[in-house]
Amino acid sequence: MIIAVDGPTASGKGTIAKALAAHFGLPCLDTGLLYRAVGYQVEQAGGDADNAADALAGCDFPDSLLANPDLRSEATGGLASRVSVHPEVRAALLERQRAFAEQEGGAVLDGRDIGTVIAPDADVKLFITASVQARAKRRWLEMQGREMEITLDEIEHDIAMRDARDTGRKDAPLRIAPDARVIDTTALGKEEAIAAAIAAVELARD
Ligand code: C5P
Repeated sequence: MIIAVDGPTASGKGTIAKALAAHFGLPCLDTGLLYRAVGYQVEQAGGDADNAADALAGCDFPDSLLANPDLRSEATGGLASRVSVHPEVRAALLERQRAFAEQEGGAVLDGRDIGTVIAPDADVKLFITASVQARAKRRWLEMQGREMEITLDEIEHDIAMRDARDTGRKDAPLRIAPDARVIDTTALGKEEAIAAAIAAVELARD
């Protein structure tokens, strides 16, 4: 069974994807991490994330980079969103994601274009969303004790910018696949959101 979990930043899709993977005994790939690794590499090399050639050069990253906690920062998320606009970058990361999706036994992948581009024939497609305010608040709470210099307003602004970039890009924009089930987590706690997702998968695969 292939489960595609798409949605905007901080919607809870990563948490839901991991929980689904554990519940159904499937391997899980956080595809945002791949774009984050590219953005990070470009920055480290002194390149420009908005330049397609620099961004493509960043696709050649070692697997070990995926474990680097710096990839999780808000700043790296912004770089990821910028490099992900380039079709060359999306093409370079495509095969790796498809191979993961098509492995024997199935998989869970979370991202922006899993149900639309990477695994259009996925058995189950979920689109996880929440209001910008709810997402900003979650990100802010997550960051307490880490990136203290960032305010709630700044995070809200940053999330709105990333939404605009992710939905507005030409290649593989963030879209709800016509056959996806939408779960709005604005008013849901973590366990409620996970339970809703498990129920949606069970319903969709029957
Ligand atoms: O999900 P996460 O916040 O880690 O993703 C970082 C950025 O990577 C997103 O803002 C998006 O621009 C990009 N991305 C993408 N396609 C995916 C996953 C992430 O374009 N499948």
